[in-house]
Amino acid sequence: MSNKNCTSCNAPLAEQGATEFKCPVCEQKIYRCFRCREQSIPYICAKCGFRGP
Ligand SMILES: [Zn+2]
Ligand SMILES: [Zn+2]
Repeated sequence: MSNKNCTSCNAPLAEQGATEFKCPVCEQKIYRCFRCREQSIPYICAKCGFRGP
C-alpha cells in the first residue's frame, strides 16, 4: 500500500485516475488526485514553492 497524498488537497491517493509527475523546477514528486486533476486545481510544490496547473 502506498501512502501518497494529493499535493493540492492532501487526499490520500488510492483511486485510479490520480496522476504523479515531477516538479518542473526541483523534480520533487507531485501527486494529484482525480478530482483536483479534473478541476485543474493548482498545486504548490512542497519543496520549492512552485505553483502550477
Ligand atoms: Zn486533490
Ligand atoms: Zn519544486
